[in-house]
Amino acid sequence: MIWLVATIVHAYPYSFPTTADDYAHWYPTAYRDNGGVDWNCGGITYPGHGGSDFGAGSFTGMDEGRDIVAAEAGTVITVHDGEFDRCTTGDCAGGGGYGNYVKIEHDDGKVTTYAHLKQWSVAVSDGQFVGCGHFLGLMGSSGYSTGPHLHFEVDSSEWGYSQDPFDGPCSDPPSYWLVQGDYDALPGLGCGNGCSHNGALACGQRVDSSNDSGGTWETTYYGCSEFAYSGPERVWSFTTSLDEPVTLSLTGLTADLDLYALTSTACDGSDCLASSVSPNADPEALTFQAAAGATYTIVVDGWDGAISGFALDVTCVGEPPPPPPSTGPTGSTGTVPGTTDGPPVDTALDDTGLATTPPASSDPTLDAGPSSPRDFAAPTGGCTTAPTLPLWAWGALLFRRQRRGAATSRPNVAAST
Ligand SMILES: [Zn+2]
Repeated sequence: MIWLVATIVHAYPYSFPTTADDYAHWYPTAYRDNGGVDWNCGGITYPGHGGSDFGAGSFTGMDEGRDIVAAEAGTVITVHDGEFDRCTTGDCAGGGGYGNYVKIEHDDGKVTTYAHLKQWSVAVSDGQFVGCGHFLGLMGSSGYSTGPHLHFEVDSSEWGYSQDPFDGPCSDPPSYWLVQGDYDALPGLGCGNGCSHNGALACGQRVDSSNDSGGTWETTYYGCSEFAYSGPERVWSFTTSLDEPVTLSLTGLTADLDLYALTSTACDGSDCLASSVSPNADPEALTFQAAAGATYTIVVDGWDGAISGFALDVTCVGEPPPPPPSTGPTGSTGTVPGTTDGPPVDTALDDTGLATTPPASSDPTLDAGPSSPRDFAAPTGGCTTAPTLPLWAWGALLFRRQRRGAATSRPNVAAST
């Protein structure tokens, strides 16, 4: 687990740039040339090579289709497509040697290049913002290529020459990968800090969608569970004007999606508030106590690449306001003053001596309008019995129970790598 914590604070959280479905097909074929040797002082390189090459089954793999995705969120700054893509000679024209390619500029100014792509597979355009894991194109053999592979290159406009994303005895730190992995093996999937939000959620809202629709692979770890390498994920911000329990439920699932609530918008792995990480549960649900005005991050995440349609419901329960100051004797019959626009309402007293029917409030922030299901201060009264535990506490109990169950039935992928 110490290893996992170390990855969370990594400054360059690149994910190996493919999808979970295609990941097993890939292998390194040539690292960056660091003075005649590769990053590990070995010979898996060739003179003058400025990037890292990865293969995925040669032309057979190319024809099957090998996805190439963004290693980290950023803005597409160059795309080039249309070049011949079955080059075997290493000197096919087009794209300045890169053939069909995409360049993405990241927040820190570094640029990643994805080169030799399949003809007409480039799926992004100049100026487009892409999240980590966004599909860019397919593996090909365009440009200066002797066979299908991905040439992945990291450039610094500050330094003017390419960087080696791997850290080792023959390469300067840092590693740019979230999980670098072993020599002559692949870096891990999954990006680190940051979430690209898909929008804002509000109380009472339902989202009918899929985690593959606009989903990313930005964050592998939310601090809620020990499970890493999950995605694709959909992420929203959420705020409410009340201090109140908020319940999220995920229904209509056909695969194992998980649900997270985070206390910040950073998605930095350390800010988990609640999660539902049940294996193959339908529904998944969690409840947390929201503070008025605070911004939370809500994540629907596929376990190990799981993809499913879903309905996400956001249910808020406004906290009753404090009882108003007594305006007169309440008597011994349990009668409390009614609202000014209705008759007094008889209601039972609970063992605190307070009426269990919340009185109507004059606080405008609590008045969401008569048509709102959140206006708990029903104008015609009626009894509402307070639960012995608040909803969020039930949610917390549920979460703990689910987490224990999950821990015994799922492999700990992170620890095995
Ligand atoms: Zn290369």
